[in-house]
Order: sequence, then C-alpha cells, then structure tokens
Amino acid sequence: MAKRRSVVVLLGGALSTTLLLGGCLGNPPSRTGTGGPPSATPVANADVEVRTISLGFVPILEAAPLVIGVEKGFFASHGLEVKLAKQSSWATARDNVVLGSAGGGIDGGQWQLPMPQMISEGALTNGKKVPMTILAMLMSQGNGIAAANGVRDGNLSVDLKASSPGFFQRFNQKEGRKFRATYTFARANQDLWIRYWLAASGVNPEKDVELLTVPAPETLQGMRNGTMEAFSTGDPWPSRIVKGDVGYLAATTAQIWKVHPEEYLAVRNDWVEKHPKATVALLKGLIQAQMWLDKAENKREAAEILSSRKWFNVPVDVLEASLRGQVKLGSKGTAQNDPKMGPLYWSSDRGVISYPYRSLTLWFLVESLRWKFFPGTVDTIEEAKAINERVTREDLWREAARAVGVPERDIPTSSSRGKEVFFDGTVYDPTNPQAYLNSLQIKN
Ligand code: CA
Repeated sequence: MAKRRSVVVLLGGALSTTLLLGGCLGNPPSRTGTGGPPSATPVANADVEVRTISLGFVPILEAAPLVIGVEKGFFASHGLEVKLAKQSSWATARDNVVLGSAGGGIDGGQWQLPMPQMISEGALTNGKKVPMTILAMLMSQGNGIAAANGVRDGNLSVDLKASSPGFFQRFNQKEGRKFRATYTFARANQDLWIRYWLAASGVNPEKDVELLTVPAPETLQGMRNGTMEAFSTGDPWPSRIVKGDVGYLAATTAQIWKVHPEEYLAVRNDWVEKHPKATVALLKGLIQAQMWLDKAENKREAAEILSSRKWFNVPVDVLEASLRGQVKLGSKGTAQNDPKMGPLYWSSDRGVISYPYRSLTLWFLVESLRWKFFPGTVDTIEEAKAINERVTREDLWREAARAVGVPERDIPTSSSRGKEVFFDGTVYDPTNPQAYLNSLQIKN
C-alpha cells in the first residue's frame, strides 16, 4: 500500500485514480489506446540497473512522447519509472541537468539542440562540462513563427522575398525601431529557425531585426501589447496565438525544412554509462510511445492526456488540431489540414523520426558555426564533427528498436539521412558541411 501511495504522489491526476480503482499493476501497456487502464508501476522482472529516472520537460508538443510514455505505461512495461519534471524555462532545465537527480535536479530530458552538445563542452554552463548523450529525436516539425496582428498587412510568409519585399526596411522607417523577433532560448532551435527563415530571404537577423529571448507564457500578452512582432516556438503556442486572435502563423518549420530535426531526448552520459540496460528500457518505452502517437486514431486521446493541468494545461481542441496538423496559415488564415505538415513522431517520407542521425544533430553545430555562437568551442567543421560524435549515440536506439519489434527496414543502418533541402533550395550535404556554409549568403 505504501508503494501505491508513493506512485499517487508522483503522478497525481487521472492515472493515479485509475490505479486506485483498477489496480492493474504490472500489465503491459495498451497498444491500441482503447484497451484497459495503463500501469504506472514498473514491472518487477525487468533486467535494469535502476528503477527510476528523472527527466525534464517543457510543455510543448515535443514533450508528448515522454508524457505518453508515462501515462500509457510504456516506460513502466520495461521496468522504468520515468519521473517527469516540468521546467519553467530552458535555462532551468540546463541548470537542473548540471545538478543531476542526486543534487535535486534531473538526469536528462527534452532538449533543443545544440544544448546537449554545448552542455557537454561547458559552453552553456560557465565552463563546467557535463557530458551528455543524445539518444533519440522526440519530434519533427510542429514549430512555427507567429507574427502579431500589428504586422498583418506585412503578409509575412515562409518566402518573404515573394510575399513581403522591403517589409523590414519599411517597418524600421515607420516605427523608428527594428522589428522584434523573439524565442525562448538563444542559440538553439527556435533562434535557428527564425534566423534561417529571415536570412533565406536576404533579411539579416543581426542587423535588420532585433532578436530577443522571452518566456513563452509572456508571448500572448507581449504580442497583444506590441512588445514583439514575431515569436518562434513550438506548438501549442503558435496555435494559441492564432486561436486567441493575437496574431497569425507566418511560417511553419515544416515549410522551412520538411521533416527537419526538432527536439531530442538526451541524458547525462554518466547516467547512461552506469545504466545501459535502463537506457535501452527508456528508449524502448519512448519508441513505443512515438509509434502510438503516430496513429490518427490516438490523436484525440493524446490531446486529452496532454491537456491536463499536470502536463500542458491547454484546451483539448487546440492540442488535437495541432497534433493533426490542422492550422490556419498566413495573414489570411488559410486552413491547412495536412498531418504530414504537422508534428511527426514516428513515420515520415524520410523514414523513422526517432532515430538520432548524426547527420542531423551535426547540422545544429554547423549552424552554430554559421552564426559564430560558441567561439572557442565550435570554430571549425572538424570540431563540430568531433563534439557531435562524442555526444550523439545511435547503437542503443537500434538495440531498443529491435527489442520492441521494429521491422529491420525501419532501422537505419547509416549515421546519415542523406542530403537535406530547405525551402529556398539550399542543400545541406552532411558529407560536405563546408559547401553548405559556403553557399549561405548571410552569416557571421
Ligand atoms: Ca521546438
């Protein structure tokens, strides 16, 4: 009984109610989403070195596989209790992983890149190196750049050259200040997407606009009050901005780079080294959660789970539309209803989403090189490659995938996904990142 009580304290909400009413301890997870209640108690007979792991998450759709892994009992079915801790910001997540769970922090969790690589190198942590291991991609796409109603007449779209020629110069002249574009953490995904988007149309993100870091909860009000004109982030924020009639969705990241790498699962390397079997158990549960999230028939249930105050605290309908790739796009609010352009968790035109291709995790370091984000740490392609090879690990993912019955044809055998093409025709060939860098017109 004491054991059950501790589960209730940790997980709270609907799941603990299920546990109290139904028991069902030790059952495997429901694969269909319509089966019996899930189990939150790790199965007793699993061969793992440790029974628990503490992971941080930020309440955006990238965290969905972690939440579903817990709520549907996928992690528990492999002997692991995943304790998810909501992080108030990316900086908090970084500070907590430096502490580690032994110090009251976290062992790892959800990350924008290149956070794990740069925490490993001490470049985000005042020189303190905390080696980390990137284990899987959590999600692709599902992010976007929202623009405020105040710039609706600018008709901002993915292709600014076509939709809004001269807009930023006119804005500067009219307002007597620069256009303000914001994100929640500098020098990572959301900053990179807004920079790529602007630069591809000849707008220099460091000269023609002002880039600012803003906490996600402040963005709705900030856009209403005119303290920012654009916000680059993950759903449900862009959808909430549109739904609240505060602004419009100028571009989705799926438009910028189809099936692009988004956020990743990464864990402290000391934890992985000490607990290789538990790491594989974590990946098994994650892969199963991602496969479950991929199915159209599970989207409503996923939205209901994620909606709760404990997780995202966002209306079910907003989340369900986001999960299904239903958005209103552009200044005219054109309806787009295409699951292939929404958040992707498992299958895609480019193969399995979850696999941690080194070619993709490297891109974030190449982009760091482009903007000279981390001088002294990433100054050459060779340095970028060496760091990436130390941090991104693919073998454990393959082991986990085989163990849960992923067909061999879905398990990548190469560290490269091949050439990547952006909306403006730019090609990133991972075998020649220097050629990609050379091809970019705007860079530092
Ligand atoms: Ca994101």
